[in-house]
Amino acid sequence: MLLRHTPAAPAVDREALTINPAKTCQPIGAMYAALGVHNCMPHSHGSQGCCSYHRSMLTRHYKEPVMAATSCFTEGASVFGGQANLLEALGNIFTIYAPDVVAVHTTCLSETIGDDLKQMTAKAIESGKVPPGKTVLLANTPSYVGSHVTGFSTMVKGMVDGLAASAAPHKLDVINIIPGYVEPSDMEEIKRLASALGVRTIVFPDTSGVLNGPMTGKFRMYPAGGVTVEQLRAAGDSRATLALGPMASSAAAKALDIKCHVPCEILELPIGLSATDKFIDALRRVAGVSVPESINRERGQLLDVMTDMHQYTAGRKVALAGDPDHLVALVDFLVSMDMQPIHIVSGTPGKKTLERMRPSLDKLGRPVNVKIPGDLYQLHQWIKQEAVDLIIGGTHCKYFARDEDTPLLRFGFPILDRVGHQYFPSVGYKGGLRLLEKILDLLMDRQDRDAPEEKFELVM
Ligand code: SF4
Repeated sequence: MLLRHTPAAPAVDREALTINPAKTCQPIGAMYAALGVHNCMPHSHGSQGCCSYHRSMLTRHYKEPVMAATSCFTEGASVFGGQANLLEALGNIFTIYAPDVVAVHTTCLSETIGDDLKQMTAKAIESGKVPPGKTVLLANTPSYVGSHVTGFSTMVKGMVDGLAASAAPHKLDVINIIPGYVEPSDMEEIKRLASALGVRTIVFPDTSGVLNGPMTGKFRMYPAGGVTVEQLRAAGDSRATLALGPMASSAAAKALDIKCHVPCEILELPIGLSATDKFIDALRRVAGVSVPESINRERGQLLDVMTDMHQYTAGRKVALAGDPDHLVALVDFLVSMDMQPIHIVSGTPGKKTLERMRPSLDKLGRPVNVKIPGDLYQLHQWIKQEAVDLIIGGTHCKYFARDEDTPLLRFGFPILDRVGHQYFPSVGYKGGLRLLEKILDLLMDRQDRDAPEEKFELVM
């Protein structure tokens, strides 16, 4: 019993205190987004400790080396500001590591002392620290607000602010897709689906080929994947943008609309049958194409398994911890299989998250515990009050999952003790099928483990 001191009932109503948070730092999301740009060096404008922590979390989640630079604040910079550090860093990075782009994000410290990234970057350009043709992207990401999801969103918007332009005389036959805070495998799957529909796309950011690359025996500072600078510039000439996951993607999509008049549609993440239907339908509509039989077949396979296995999913209670965009899509998927998501927390604040889940939750016809922002301690207490059949969340949930003897489906960020999320998608029909397989494996393994001998079935 690792969390044996967690009581079932709260001793006091907590407002300001978070115990065992269900989120992480804004800069982690900003760094992750920056890795989705080809030949880009993420740069943490703050102290070394922040950068090391953010890199190590991403490295542990992806089991890949994550490169990033830092302004290396010490006492001097903390008191007098970090301009000198940033200027020297930009000069060094462009000289030594030769990236096309340096994507700078702030941390708690540089934000608290009031460093002005725009002014400092202008100074760096003026003083020749940024070679001609190179780009510096900016994102303000203090971690005392938001979470890794908002940090991701701010950096993706920074890509639009810093690079997108409207240069062609008329819009081109290309659709931008902002895939949201999803895994490299998901970004790959989104590109595969678009290509199956025959749609030309610019997907940004795109961490596929960066954080799920093959072992080649050679170290590459900048792996083969990522959206290129040219593609980011051309995003302003695309016909439309599909933004997947409102919290992670809508800021960039709206900024692109305002800056370059590229109309956008904001959708939920395509996790599960109905959300994927909406994504495919939107893609078909904005690109003016038809859905090929191969995609219909994938859809039919997911629907087939959902129907065949309904007896194992119906009525099963689930507790979830995760990011808003993930939770909204997951809840919808679970409810579509007659599962009951009854305890839900997200560490990422957002007034609209519950509103977005409401249509799915209303179908349950029973009270549901939701806390946004909430923490894992709260989730554990709720599970003690009403047990569940399954927990869905990141690796930090494993402690109370073990204490409560409840199966855990690892989903979201971070996953520090398993592999697979980099390589197998959760989005699209194929991703839905994989997710359902994992859910069923956990539920049926538990049934096998607990069944009395006379009910231990060979065929399930
Ligand atoms: S919370 Fe702030 S100070 Fe701490 S690691 Fe994150 S950015 Fe750095």
